Amino acid sequence: MSTEPTKITSPTKTALPPKITSPLKREIYLLSRVGLRDSHTLPVYKAHGGYAALEQVLTGGFTPAQVIQIVKDSGLRGRGGAGFSTGLKWSFMPDPAKDPRPRYLAVNADESEPGTCKDRVLMEQDPHGLVEGILLACFAMRVKTAYVYVRGEYRLSHERVAAAVAEARAAGLVGAKILGTDFACDIWMHKGAGAYICGEETGLMESLEGKRGHPRPKPPFPAGAGLWRQPTTVNNVETLANVPFVITRGADWFKSLGTPKSPGNVLIGISGHVERPGVYELPLGISARTVLEECAGGVWKGRKLKAWIPGGSSTGLLPAAKIDVAMDHDSIREAGSMLGTGAMIMLDETACTVRAMQVIARFYEHESCGQCSQCREGTEWLHQIFARIERGQGRMEDIELLSSLANGMAPAKTICALADAAAIPTHAIVKNFRAELEEHVRLGRCPLDVERHAAELTDLVPEGAHA
Ligand code: SF4
Repeated sequence: MSTEPTKITSPTKTALPPKITSPLKREIYLLSRVGLRDSHTLPVYKAHGGYAALEQVLTGGFTPAQVIQIVKDSGLRGRGGAGFSTGLKWSFMPDPAKDPRPRYLAVNADESEPGTCKDRVLMEQDPHGLVEGILLACFAMRVKTAYVYVRGEYRLSHERVAAAVAEARAAGLVGAKILGTDFACDIWMHKGAGAYICGEETGLMESLEGKRGHPRPKPPFPAGAGLWRQPTTVNNVETLANVPFVITRGADWFKSLGTPKSPGNVLIGISGHVERPGVYELPLGISARTVLEECAGGVWKGRKLKAWIPGGSSTGLLPAAKIDVAMDHDSIREAGSMLGTGAMIMLDETACTVRAMQVIARFYEHESCGQCSQCREGTEWLHQIFARIERGQGRMEDIELLSSLANGMAPAKTICALADAAAIPTHAIVKNFRAELEEHVRLGRCPLDVERHAAELTDLVPEGAHA
């Protein structure tokens, strides 16, 4: 990871985290404690400004409505993929004076979108930042119980966040009478079991309730009928980790980073054919080329870029010509894809985009929960058609069939967005890489280097299996 903070050798007495710049000389805050010895512990977190925002809110006479207004004014948008205004989402929770039902915060730490691994860094290296963000969100929405739903494979993340909650509870920061005030909030941990669909907010809530993670039709929306049909808000880890900084530094400071419509910094994970894959903290609106060349060291082995995915596997594959697009919600949408979770996956000139898409289609076929016929059948057919084209057994009319299938699946034709997640990259490959699909059909094989392709396939066959 290249966003190493400046080494801080002695605990600072300042109440706020120091402003630290990345090697690219840009201000970072989310990863400012990452790299410090024992950054996951309470003493280190507090020594570097931790829980200052909570103290400011609880002892400074802030009302829940004021906290929501600050977050709204900052323009913070959710970092889980949809990019919805966080303050606005919080404001959808009903007024407890009119609706006294129990209410919940569910923290989406499932991070199941392929290519995405940024929440993991926060949970492993700076778990108290998440805990403080949870407490502030709960104060703002007058929630007394929060659940953290952690992806099952993220064992260290679960361990670190659970330990941080225990440390905070022992220090009077979680539980009853937090910091001696009337604010009470408890945080409970939950491990997922590896289903992609449990990263969808209603699937996550079903799973938390102990049921199969089948998404629910909306409406009703979670703010009206969420966990156990009570008012609930679901927030992503990185979204909540931003909140303490928004409170201590203010909405104007937050808006000074990023773009007017996508303010703040974002964690961008870059993987695939690059020299230095990793998670980098950068302002929204930075160009994808800068992320690739300055952070990730460029395309590996001196090769050229062929294609790239800007925000996880459910966002459309873009051609190399679009590498100068700005990494913010609106610019990427105009370029024909989505910012998603900011998980960039880069493919060099030797990669077969049809094979890449076949792998993506296989993933969505496997992860469909099966409730909607468009998704259950559509994802299976997409996978079969991409597989046969990739094997060299496709027909020219298969290309139109792919588009037609994707049109039948999305947009918004199913209970949740998994069908869209399979349809969007399908449309993108037909639009941006049609020539490569046609070439596979015409040649009856992958048009790329046949020997290299054969060698790759041989690598996948266990030793001795050729005999
Ligand atoms: Fe299940 Fe797919 Fe329907 Fe979502 S779209 S509810 S994953 S069948």
